[in-house]
Amino acid sequence: MAEHYDLFVIGAGSGGVRAARIAAGHGAKVGIAEDYRVGGTCVIRGCVPKKLLVYGAHFAEDIEDAAMFGWDIPEKRFVWPTLRDNVLAEVDRLEGLYRQTLQNNKVDLYEARGRLAGGGKVQLSTGETVTVDKILVAVGAWPFMPDIPGIEHAITSNEVFHLPELPKRVAIAGGGYIANEFAGIFNQFGAHVTIVNRSDTILRGYDEQVRDRLLQISMTKGIDFRFNSTFETIEKMDDGRLHLTMKGCDDMEVDQLVFATGRIPKTDDLGCEVAGVSLDDKGAIKVDEYNQTSAKGVFAVGDVTDRIQLTPVAIREGHAFADTQFGDAPRTVDYDFVPNAVFSHPPVAAVGLTESQARERFGNEVKTYTSDFRAMKNVLANRHERSLYKLVVEPVSDKVVGIHMIGPETPEILQAAAIAVKAGLTKADFDATVALHPTMAEELVLMR
Ligand code: NDP
Repeated sequence: MAEHYDLFVIGAGSGGVRAARIAAGHGAKVGIAEDYRVGGTCVIRGCVPKKLLVYGAHFAEDIEDAAMFGWDIPEKRFVWPTLRDNVLAEVDRLEGLYRQTLQNNKVDLYEARGRLAGGGKVQLSTGETVTVDKILVAVGAWPFMPDIPGIEHAITSNEVFHLPELPKRVAIAGGGYIANEFAGIFNQFGAHVTIVNRSDTILRGYDEQVRDRLLQISMTKGIDFRFNSTFETIEKMDDGRLHLTMKGCDDMEVDQLVFATGRIPKTDDLGCEVAGVSLDDKGAIKVDEYNQTSAKGVFAVGDVTDRIQLTPVAIREGHAFADTQFGDAPRTVDYDFVPNAVFSHPPVAAVGLTESQARERFGNEVKTYTSDFRAMKNVLANRHERSLYKLVVEPVSDKVVGIHMIGPETPEILQAAAIAVKAGLTKADFDATVALHPTMAEELVLMR
């Protein structure tokens, strides 16, 4: 007899684990299938290990800057395997906690690939089939790799965490989140980094002034950029080097090529057709505001739905789904004013409308306030890196509808400021708040 569940979740990442845990807490009998490791992209090969590498990379500058603060550190030497193995050990620890959470909530974990089989059934790669009342698809997304001759020689962010040794020269394809974050990491570790993007921009969607500042700082740090350029072929030489034949720029020779050209929903071989689950033209599962797909009893959350590809969003969707379906408390996720950050060197953080989006929506009366300053610590360290903070204000209501920042610790600062934006506070409310001196964040209440 097949095991029967009130809820069966396919994919034990951020959204899936949250939904499973909350539904079980509401009294549902829950099973979950995961074919790789519990925790998903964020914990296993995304946000968490990436952030730890960002911390590790930042020591390069901190050690340099320490000299002006009186510290004599005669020799700095970076040992990649030490950081890599410590980060991987932390990932193991976190995976253990995720497994424990499932166990504590009496969720049955199947270490197998799950596939929709139609008619309230999920087929597992172990050969078992389970019957279910409700199915939640939370299988996430996967790096997109274009069809270029030799693409098998390129890696993605998935593999960076396991590199046996650090490359001396790296090319990174793409100009988005992952490209800029790993460019900063490799650059701080001493590699020569070249970012190659198909367009003439980085971080599409972010405020233009902030993007320009990141580009300028990155170039000062020695990161090269090739815009309007694409890859024709990738050849591996006998000694392991890669020869990149390019269109739009000169050919290159590198030790490693990382593709960071977006992530696509992992709907291949998921049985969507059999189950009557409709996809959009990008292969993402189409859902309504309650995460309901086109098939009765089948729901989806997180990156597989291609709404906002961020962990906290997937977690909220999973939680709202479980409360709606099993907790008798229907609710949806509010996608307005979702704060976001790029953990580049220095990091970028933003919430709400950019200046150009605000002008499109409210006209040219939109007001902006900027603070362009050098952090106190950078001044003493003789580091000529300037931060830029920008407020975008709606003209009639005086509400702050966007904050855009680049500089040290901006994601930490923005999280708190995002509460004010979400709450609809005005520029006058910002002005009425006394500065906390001396901080970088005080600039947010000092712009006139
Ligand atoms: P992004 O969408 O951020 O950037 C993709 C980049 O690749 C863009 O520069 C784009 O160029 C380029 N590109 C897109 N398609 C192609 C193509 N077919 N051929 C060549 N170039 C292409 O993707 P990432 O891979 O950096 O990250 C994926 C997602 O993961 C992000 O959207 C984000 O949601 C999430 N993420 C979030 C992080 C965070 O919150 N800090 C960190 C890492 C990932 P252009 O736009 O110029 O045309």
